[in-house]
Amino acid sequence: MPAHRSRPWMTADLDAFRDLARQFCEKELSPNQQRWAAQKSVDRDLWNKAGEVGLLCLAIPQEYGGGGGTFAHEAVLLEEQAASGDSCWGVGLHNAIVAHYLLAYGTEGQKRDWLPKLARGEWVGAIAMTEPGTGSDLQTVTTKAIRDGDSYIVNRAKTFITNGGQADLILVVAKTDPTRGAEGISLIVVEAERDGFRRARVLDKVGLKGQDTAELFFDDVRVPTGHLLGEVEGHGFLQLMQQLPQERLLIGIASVAAMELALRDTLDYTRSRTAFGRDIFSFQNTKFTLAEAATETRVARVFLDDCISKHLDGTLDVPTAAMLKWWSSDRAMRVIDDCVQLHGGYGYMSEYRIARAWTDQRVQKIYGGTNEIMKEIIARTL
Ligand SMILES: Cc1cc2nc3c(=O)[nH]c(=O)nc-3n(C[C@H](O)[C@H](O)[C@H](O)COP(=O)(O)OP(=O)(O)OC[C@H]3O[C@@H](n4cnc5c(N)ncnc54)[C@H](O)[C@@H]3O)c2cc1C
Repeated sequence: MPAHRSRPWMTADLDAFRDLARQFCEKELSPNQQRWAAQKSVDRDLWNKAGEVGLLCLAIPQEYGGGGGTFAHEAVLLEEQAASGDSCWGVGLHNAIVAHYLLAYGTEGQKRDWLPKLARGEWVGAIAMTEPGTGSDLQTVTTKAIRDGDSYIVNRAKTFITNGGQADLILVVAKTDPTRGAEGISLIVVEAERDGFRRARVLDKVGLKGQDTAELFFDDVRVPTGHLLGEVEGHGFLQLMQQLPQERLLIGIASVAAMELALRDTLDYTRSRTAFGRDIFSFQNTKFTLAEAATETRVARVFLDDCISKHLDGTLDVPTAAMLKWWSSDRAMRVIDDCVQLHGGYGYMSEYRIARAWTDQRVQKIYGGTNEIMKEIIARTL
């Protein structure tokens, strides 16, 4: 029986969807990793191909062009993406973050205008919270969206933006009232085609080499007031707080899937490589290290599955999502580091998947709210 059948949230329908997702990831993602890393982005037409086979906006209702599924479909796609060894495609952010903000807070007109384009892959989505001077402390963002008649004028810069190089629709966290803190924040939709919008450069990162993480500039970008997400100014911070648990769950999914893949790759490697006339696996240190890694991976999987089940029935709370985020990203980093060690020098070579997993995993402890901020959130509830 495939391991995923034992997951409490899997169903027969999801099994069929998993096959589709796996085939797509193996055909369209796995073979392109080195090329995409070199060009610092996926091919733009990957989004259109995914849209054609129905892999975008999976949990968005069909009336807005989506797949009409649930978060479980998003989870399956992300697991299969990770299992294929891909770390380039920012589909989790496009599908399960940007589209979900539009669905949760958009007006009927906004949903009808924007979601079908994201679902077809005609548009790529990004969310721009972080600024050069502000990351964890989101209340202090300096990007402004100041009302001028029936427009907002958006100014300032954002950085570290996933999908930033290709994004067509950017959900910008901005102050519509710069005299206030959290209550002054709103989410404003900016299309990349607007005058005054500029992408500076795709950033050079130590991992996630094939992701087009970018700096974005907004110089007097004028958008209609109808681009305020929802209809009321000042609700942005609350909207962020409500959606961040889902983002943290995505990081949990990616982290556990990365542990599972690292373990599989390292079992294969240590059984085929020999030293001192024996395979590496047969050394007691290797067996103990992998026994510990397998245990931690299993525990992480059980916790993750419980969080997914809770999220599907609407009971995943903020501190539990924070626990999953910090713990799974932290443990995954340790497990992958041990796996690198068991690969010897090959574990440090970029052509080896385990080396890429090591550099890719590190950021999971940093983005989506740093692990220190996760512990602050948890501690407040103790
Ligand atoms: C590859 C990548 C992709 C990203 N994608 C996006 C994206 O798509 N959209 C987006 O908006 N952002 C994105 N980010 C930004 C990311 O979310 C931020 O980097 C992160 O939130 C941390 O903010 P910071 O870098 O400003 O660090 P800082 O906030 O300056 O933190 C520096 C250190 O101080 C610690 N610290 C801060 N406050 C506290 C506190 N109260 N208590 C204890 N310790 C504290 C932090 O934990 C950290 O260790 C991305 C980042 C990376 C690297």
